[in-house]
Amino acid sequence: MTRTKQKVAILGATGAVGQTFIRLLAGHPWFEIAELVASERSAGQRYRDVVKWQDGELAPEVGELTLLPAEAGTVRSRIAFSAMDSSVAGPIEEQFAKAGKTVLTNAKNHRMDPDVPLVIPEINADHMALIATQRAARDWQGAIVANANCSATVAAMALAPLQERFGINTIFLSTMQAISGAGYPGLPSSDILGNVIPFIADEEEKIEIELRKILGRLDGGAVADAAFTVSAHTNRVAVEHGHTVCMSIGLDGSPDVKAVRSALDEWTGSRAVRGLPGAKHRPLVVRNEPDRPQPRRDVGSGDGMTVQVGRVRADAVLDVRLVVMGHNTVRGAAGGSILNAELLLSTGAIPSA
Ligand code: NAP
Repeated sequence: MTRTKQKVAILGATGAVGQTFIRLLAGHPWFEIAELVASERSAGQRYRDVVKWQDGELAPEVGELTLLPAEAGTVRSRIAFSAMDSSVAGPIEEQFAKAGKTVLTNAKNHRMDPDVPLVIPEINADHMALIATQRAARDWQGAIVANANCSATVAAMALAPLQERFGINTIFLSTMQAISGAGYPGLPSSDILGNVIPFIADEEEKIEIELRKILGRLDGGAVADAAFTVSAHTNRVAVEHGHTVCMSIGLDGSPDVKAVRSALDEWTGSRAVRGLPGAKHRPLVVRNEPDRPQPRRDVGSGDGMTVQVGRVRADAVLDVRLVVMGHNTVRGAAGGSILNAELLLSTGAIPSA
């Protein structure tokens, strides 16, 4: 279907996720970057004079845009992708929603609000129904829609087929998270090179609660969290892009490895995403090699939107263990947000301009 392109704003356009939005939205069939927003430090300056552009060539027409301050009154676009630092994102996003804009956020601030959908469209597209609850409760015409923590997103992609087919009762997981997950400029090289840092602020708590909401069930206008328990360990490692998650999983009925493998292999995700520009035919790919997935080799799979799972094997403590890996700034951030916006546009939840 041919659509009039929707003008969009990117809030937090100078950072790691903001730059990924700009890269992914170049030539997008439904969206056109109209406005860029950053902090008061950057506002009023030309984007290309302020940004430390990380990846390839910056499109000249984007580089020429003047950065706007984060005020809903100065931004005309009705769709705003938010990649703002969480220290400021919460109230600014509310101000934008109050002004009638649909905000697709990567920040943690509103993810666990009961009336804010926390959506990975292949898994829980139906949770978008919370927008109606949100509009009624907050008396605004706009909306806030969140995508999950980047490691939670990667883990959820391998957990969803198992929750759907068997039911999950216990998850023990440990992450190896890329440096780009800490934003730009991120960590000093002298802290991370040749090192593993076994602490990422708030990360374990976010993974533990967000997984239960994403994999929960929409019930009478609210999400009933999934009942499983999660224990998460998080580590920062010297990898540029791609978060790896090692998981041991307890499943209802203790199915064997063959059945688990089939469930992963056969999963294609919700029908709601079929045909959307950012959706992949196989959002989850099962690898057979004994030493995959690896971030250096596999992070670009499906333009960064495909999550890879491997080493599916029996576990001596729980039922099964596996390794899952996905691109943190694409699948776990900007690409996920864009897919959410495509879903909303395709269902009419964001009216076409
Ligand atoms: P980042 O590189 O540190 O970028 C932060 C952005 O926030 C910059 O554009 C900055 O603009 C802007 N900002 C700071 N203060 C502001 C203010 N007062 N008003 C408006 N904008 C302001 O961070 P990031 O890694 O891109 O992460 C962005 C968000 O996505 C965070 O909430 C993060 O938790 C979340 N997230 C990140 C990842 C990842 O893999 N990196 C994955 C999932 C979610 P200035 O340049 O003007 O300061």
